[in-house]
Amino acid sequence: MSPQIDEKVEPIFQEVLKRNPGEVEFHQAVREVLESLGPVLVKHPEFAERKIIERICEPERQIIFRVPWQDDGGNVHINRGFRVEFNSSLGPFKGGLRFHPSVYLGIIKFLGFEQIFKNSLTGLPIGGGKGGSDFDPKGKSDNEIMRFCQSFMTELYRHLGEHTDVPAGDIGVGGREIGYMFGQYKRITNRYEPGVLTGKGLDWGGSLVRTEATGYGATFFVDAMLKVRKESFDGKVCTVSGSGNVAIYTIEKIHQLGGKCISCSDSNGVIYHEKGLDLNLIKQLKEVERRRIEDYAKYHKDAKYIPNGKIWDIPCQVAMPSATQNEINGKDAATLVKNGCIAVGEGANMPTTPEGVKVFLEANIAYGPGKAANAGGVATSALEMQQNACRDAWTFEYTEQRLAQIMKNIHDTCYQTAEEYGTPGNYVNGANIAGFIKVAQAMVAHGLI
Ligand code: GLU
Repeated sequence: MSPQIDEKVEPIFQEVLKRNPGEVEFHQAVREVLESLGPVLVKHPEFAERKIIERICEPERQIIFRVPWQDDGGNVHINRGFRVEFNSSLGPFKGGLRFHPSVYLGIIKFLGFEQIFKNSLTGLPIGGGKGGSDFDPKGKSDNEIMRFCQSFMTELYRHLGEHTDVPAGDIGVGGREIGYMFGQYKRITNRYEPGVLTGKGLDWGGSLVRTEATGYGATFFVDAMLKVRKESFDGKVCTVSGSGNVAIYTIEKIHQLGGKCISCSDSNGVIYHEKGLDLNLIKQLKEVERRRIEDYAKYHKDAKYIPNGKIWDIPCQVAMPSATQNEINGKDAATLVKNGCIAVGEGANMPTTPEGVKVFLEANIAYGPGKAANAGGVATSALEMQQNACRDAWTFEYTEQRLAQIMKNIHDTCYQTAEEYGTPGNYVNGANIAGFIKVAQAMVAHGLI
């Protein structure tokens, strides 16, 4: 049942390929959504008449700029900055900033495109956008990070605003970077405008649970998928790739729900700890000391560090890819299924290749695609915006309860939509169709813009 693009949609996809040469990740993300949309046009001919799919594939605005900065030795460096403002039908552009050497326009466009549907699924009033830079934060001093963030914001500030475009973090951008960018925005604009960035510090407008939200949310989503199958996390052996913000709070919530995480990773290698990961140590190494995951094995002699290891070769029942795009290929997916994996929940954006997705769907395991499963981060960003708008600060318990309810709603929406469109249990179709319809209806209502 290899998914195909409907013949009415295929020419639109061909046009996307032609207009955006070389942007392979963007092509992949568009293709995956378009594969789900054929039946939607049958039920909603108005979407075809108004060329909604064609319009949704073209960003409303794309900003590319020079980011010059000086390292501690006084040497000048030039990076490239991006902000792709993809769709503002449901609210101001909203989505993170990624600082990573792999960043180019194709990566930011795939992320921005996914963000449209993800943000729609949250049910909250946020449009889709994404930005970032090919800057590599690895090995940079705190002062270098600050100077880079200030230079980046010195250009980007003019495009932002609480009702216009609201960035947040992604890979390579966390609380520290958001702080430096907020400071520069405030200095340039002479406005204390908390609603212009999310993921802020708790003392100056941030929301409780935002740090934990993507990982907690993804775990809630998997929990809901497991419940449908009369299963739970209790006693399950789990693997979480990555060891950044998403991975850490995925591991934390899995442990709270009674599962056991046995492995995590970074771009250098894999940690395997059969008796269960020591999360406090991971937090200390990664969040406080900014060290590599290899050092974990120095503190736990019974843990194994596998340089360049394949985390998906380690047998597990639940897998939660939380590192980066295309980290699970078709072969990895087949290995997971063969080893007894019953659920996959994507904390990262598009971590599974199309071949991998096909393996999961054909094996009929519970597969939660990123745009649904990892929506808890941006959803909690929208809750941060709500608190900023009414100058309020909610408790941890209340905010977490809101997040849990949002993830349950996203799960149920995807589940029901998949059923309604004749593909029960297919959360890929459910997420794409439900996310798309809401945006499409708003675009029809707003006229040809
Ligand atoms: N970068 C996150 C994502 O992929 C969060 C974006 C946000 O909070 O705006 O959804």
